[in-house]
Amino acid sequence: MRVGIIGGSIAGCATAALLHRAGHDVIVFERSESDLVSRGAGIGTPTAVWQDMMAHGLIDETLPAFRIDYLRFVTRGSGTGQQRWLGDVRPSLSFTLVNWAHLYQWLGGASLTSGTAVPRSSS
Ligand SMILES: Cc1cc2nc3c(=O)[nH]c(=O)nc-3n(C[C@H](O)[C@H](O)[C@H](O)COP(=O)(O)OP(=O)(O)OC[C@H]3O[C@@H](n4cnc5c(N)ncnc54)[C@H](O)[C@@H]3O)c2cc1C
Repeated sequence: MRVGIIGGSIAGCATAALLHRAGHDVIVFERSESDLVSRGAGIGTPTAVWQDMMAHGLIDETLPAFRIDYLRFVTRGSGTGQQRWLGDVRPSLSFTLVNWAHLYQWLGGASLTSGTAVPRSSS
């Protein structure tokens, strides 16, 4: 089957990779003309989702990632510019952090069609 996917970010790339592996002819339309690889810094995802992506062969264990058990919130003090601790939160779910650029490249984003916007339907 020929499949067109609108949007080449994480959902579009992951869907395209899975459909491609299932033998479909996939094209991804991404309106951004700039490389999405530099769009984000880190991305945090529930560890269960991370493990599911591994189970589906979207990533493997060599992709650098680390598990976090708590989140620390800091800000810069007004005037001083000194770091000020706001508090720690221990999420009820285990989270895994990864660099967005690594994840995007792993999902095959760099080889996608880019700079193609799909116009909104007027209906
Ligand atoms: C500040 C911030 C921090 C976040 N941190 C996290 C986090 O740590 N962990 C986490 O899991 N989530 C995080 N999120 C949420 C996460 O970014 C989104 O859930 C995720 O990006 C959604 O992915 P997506 O592929 O569905 O959509 P998007 O990332 O929004 O991608 C949609 C893509 O479709 C393209 N597009 C749209 N319309 C068209 C069109 N007509 N034609 C062609 N292309 C089109 C866009 O250019 C875009 O690239 C964060 C969000 C923000 C704003």
